[in-house]
Amino acid sequence: MSAVEKRLGWRKVPPGGAISEAGSSALYKTGTWRSFRPVIDEAKCTKCLICWIYCPDMAVRRINDGVEIDYEYCKGCGICATECPVKAIRMEEE
Ligand code: SF4
Ligand code: SF4
Repeated sequence: MSAVEKRLGWRKVPPGGAISEAGSSALYKTGTWRSFRPVIDEAKCTKCLICWIYCPDMAVRRINDGVEIDYEYCKGCGICATECPVKAIRMEEE
């Protein structure tokens, strides 16, 4: 059961599970789903931002000098590691 459902209780979940409030995805810490974690090798990273474009959860964040992973939301799908053209991201078991 999600944090939102626990808070609301099933009787108060909107019909059809409709999203009644914008920005509610921030409440779902999808990082708890992860069994593998992406780790960026800074020495290999060319800062091309392809991982940032491909991440389906917007868990790759742009920082001043490249990218970093937000592990609170990264669900460990591995798309970033697959798409990185220089293989700078390795998936490590949690
Ligand atoms: S795709 Fe790879 S090289 Fe490009 S920014 Fe991400 S980690 Fe760095
Ligand atoms: S493993 Fe998946 S969710 Fe996590 S940063 Fe990479 S693409 Fe995003």
